[in-house]
Amino acid sequence: AVVAVASSALLSACAGSGSTAVGSGADTDAGTIGLPMPTTAQARWVQDGQNMQKQFQALGYKTDLQYAGDDAQKQNAQIDEMIQHHVRALIIGSVDGTALKAELDKAKAAGIPVIAYDRLIRGSGNIDYYATFDNFKVGVLQANSLVDALGLKTAAAPKTIELFAGSPDDNNATFFFNGAMSVLQPYITSGKLVVPSGQTDFKTVATPKWDGKTAAARMDTLLAGPDAAVTLDAVLAPNDGIARGVIGSLQAHGYGKGKKLPVVDGQDAELDSVKLVNTGVQYSTIYKDTRELAKVAVEMTDKILNGQTPDINDTKTYDNGVKVVPTFLLQPVLVTKANLQTVLIDGGYYKSSDLG
Ligand code: BGC
Repeated sequence: AVVAVASSALLSACAGSGSTAVGSGADTDAGTIGLPMPTTAQARWVQDGQNMQKQFQALGYKTDLQYAGDDAQKQNAQIDEMIQHHVRALIIGSVDGTALKAELDKAKAAGIPVIAYDRLIRGSGNIDYYATFDNFKVGVLQANSLVDALGLKTAAAPKTIELFAGSPDDNNATFFFNGAMSVLQPYITSGKLVVPSGQTDFKTVATPKWDGKTAAARMDTLLAGPDAAVTLDAVLAPNDGIARGVIGSLQAHGYGKGKKLPVVDGQDAELDSVKLVNTGVQYSTIYKDTRELAKVAVEMTDKILNGQTPDINDTKTYDNGVKVVPTFLLQPVLVTKANLQTVLIDGGYYKSSDLG
């Protein structure tokens, strides 16, 4: 089936590619797809890039994969260059979802379709589709894992928690946080959960650039201040990098030895965090199979370039301020020690030997 798809895609892509194909020559060349990705600071983006490269190449496309080092201006320059080189489509994992309007105008003028990858691009009508995971649900799963681990539904005494959110320039960060707060806020309101710092609004708890060190520094400050006199029971962490930063800070303040570490969630099933989940240091993570996300984005692109209509399953959630972007949502999966083996090892994402 894969071969059949590839060859029919190739035939029509070659027929229509004309002068837009970059470095054409071989008759297997269906043109180049631009893949501007945000950063290599989280392992997932490296996998996202590699997965898309492999899958596009299997369909006869070339790829131009570039990482922006979390620098929005650098990403804009990379996208400009891709447009000048006449890529046939752009799949953008944005650094700053609000900083791409001018680039998308240029892509539109050049007839280049644009797909937002994982992160929504805001403030532009020149975005065709969005491929992502159910981001609100990510937050719900993260918070539910903490609620379960704390036994909050039946707990007699209140539990303490501090909250962390992701980068304010990433649309996903708000979705994760709102999803988590949809679960936690009722417990905070009823007094079953207490936030010693009182810091509960997104802007105050956000972590610019998703930087684990920044999160560790904030945790240090909290532990030296409002959390000095209490025992923390839980920390909401938006992804694995931040979870590890927070855990490092907690350990440096005596947690994990005499004092039980708070339950900390995460996201991305990064190997370093999966190891910690396996040893009971980090309570949970969220598995988002980047192979599947790449597949969705590659299929969308191939269909657009062949005059077909991509599959979508959400037409109402992702309003970017100018339009509601047609979206394909994948499902995130909660991973704790209990299902780590089944989901990640039996599912082929990691090998047992990776866990060390
Ligand atoms: C992604 C997460 C990732 C974070 C930091 C978010 O947009 O959805 O998977 O942890 O960015 O890179």
